[in-house]
Amino acid sequence: MHEKILVIFSGGQDSTTCLLQAVADIGAAQVEAITFSYGQRHAIELECAHRIAADLGVRQTVLDIPQLQSVTHNALMDETAAITQGDDGLPTTFVAGRNALFLLYAAIYAKGRGIRRIIIGVSEADFSGYPDCRDVFIKSMNVSLNLAMACDFRIETPLMFLDKAEVWALADRLGRLDYVREYSHSCYRGVRGGCGECPACALRERGWREYLTLRGRT
Ligand code: ZN
Repeated sequence: MHEKILVIFSGGQDSTTCLLQAVADIGAAQVEAITFSYGQRHAIELECAHRIAADLGVRQTVLDIPQLQSVTHNALMDETAAITQGDDGLPTTFVAGRNALFLLYAAIYAKGRGIRRIIIGVSEADFSGYPDCRDVFIKSMNVSLNLAMACDFRIETPLMFLDKAEVWALADRLGRLDYVREYSHSCYRGVRGGCGECPACALRERGWREYLTLRGRT
């Protein structure tokens, strides 16, 4: 029997592709998803995540961490804040410490469930300037979590060096291109089907067009 996997799952394109790959690799019964409700702008992301997990037959745990809102301010959690470049050089949608927090909670949960493999769909190839999407951060967090809990966690990042077009290609190889296109949600503004204008939509659409062009040639 394969070792169990816990996927950090937001319902976006990247984590949906990771979840589909994990299910394809070892079967839904061996895969769990953990989803965080942290005060993101709209509930639609959580709805998408719930629907996909249920559809795939994956056990999903939704963790409510609203306290994040009381210690940080950003455009992903405040509908009135502009989505732009901040004074610190990072996009205003950057949620300070988010992936560190997600990984910490995921590891605590995984330890309780006897799971060592944790998958997170971050990428430094096409990232939006978020420092906690970088490989060096994930590796350091892996070391810290192992030390913190005397565990042998393996944080896996299958998308780390893939751009968005390559993530679409991966979904296609899994036979799930239309599924990801239709059911995952990436829009920062929380518009169903995407607003087409925010950085997340722009990145997703650019990758989509690139992939269609590439596929057309092969
Ligand atoms: Zn959008």
